[in-house]
Amino acid sequence: MPELTDPFGRKIEYLRLSVTDRCDFRCFYCIPKGYKNFTPPESWLTLDETERLVRLFSELGVAKVRLTGGEPLVRQDLPEMIGRLGALPGIEDLSLSTNASRLAQHAGVLREAGVRRINVSLDSLDPAVFHEITQGDLDKVIEGLMAAKEADLRPIKINMVVMKGLNDHEITDMVEFCLLHDFTLRFIETMPVGAAGKDATDYFIDLQEVRDDLERRYDLEPAVMPGAGPASYVRVRGTRLRIGFITPMSQHFCDTCNRVRLSAEGTLYLCLGQQDRVELRPLLRSGMDDEQLKQALRDAIGRKPKRHEFLSQPQNVVRIMSITGG
Ligand code: SAM
Ligand code: SF4
Repeated sequence: MPELTDPFGRKIEYLRLSVTDRCDFRCFYCIPKGYKNFTPPESWLTLDETERLVRLFSELGVAKVRLTGGEPLVRQDLPEMIGRLGALPGIEDLSLSTNASRLAQHAGVLREAGVRRINVSLDSLDPAVFHEITQGDLDKVIEGLMAAKEADLRPIKINMVVMKGLNDHEITDMVEFCLLHDFTLRFIETMPVGAAGKDATDYFIDLQEVRDDLERRYDLEPAVMPGAGPASYVRVRGTRLRIGFITPMSQHFCDTCNRVRLSAEGTLYLCLGQQDRVELRPLLRSGMDDEQLKQALRDAIGRKPKRHEFLSQPQNVVRIMSITGG
């Protein structure tokens, strides 16, 4: 079977590719303060190696690829990578997660290179709060978002990590912003990934609270979103706005997990919440042919854990989020 199925019967059809662990922001829940241990670009897979691996995944049934990081737009050769991955016949859906700080310069190029959909992290519409969370410049992000709209990238999904006492007073502002600009909005719970993620658990909010509060303010109806993944969606009745809730902590969705994650260095991580991994770079450089590599990928998927244990074993994930890209 040209198919990747894990020991729990889950079909793997989605690859997240972290193209760099570096970033021009420092979201406090993602990269620990003063962190310097970034991987050297010399250790990253080459474009040829990345393209070969993605092609092999696609031949095994992976049709969706999301480029992430770190911040993918800090990687110089990203447009070329997108062009090459987008041209692979088996890749039906190539998307990108970005902080949008450099999107104003890149939106048109991304569209031409083959990206259609983007997810943008936006935790606050208040420049001071935004800076406190990310160390970044909100104006640049808004400029990037408007350029993406102009370049007809769609849907544009806004990802907001909701944090008690930090940005939870901005939920309705964010809803109104997304209504105005025809963006999709997704709320995310903080996860204890890496030292920074563990610090962020102090700000954790169960998204059911946010949902209950929104129900009181808006007329919401259940909605479906193509390729929704783990988010559960509602629509504000009479509008196009869809709002998703991503609840890895309060209601995990591991039973339907269909993805694996590849780091810039070629490490395949089998679960966001576990350390299980397979080093693919040495295999790529060992002279294996395509069939042998495909078998190595099937074997790797055979090691996918059943579920994360963020609540019972929060010490499990010691790597930082920008290595795997969320
Ligand atoms: N730099 C890009 C961005 O920010 O969209 C892509 C990489 S970033 C690691 C991907 C997603 O992970 C972002 O939406 C970010 O908010 C989320 N993220 C990072 N650390 C997190 C944490 N500890 N808990 C929940 N979400 C987190
Ligand atoms: Fe950078 Fe994204 Fe991590 Fe923020 S969440 S530090 S933008 S990689």
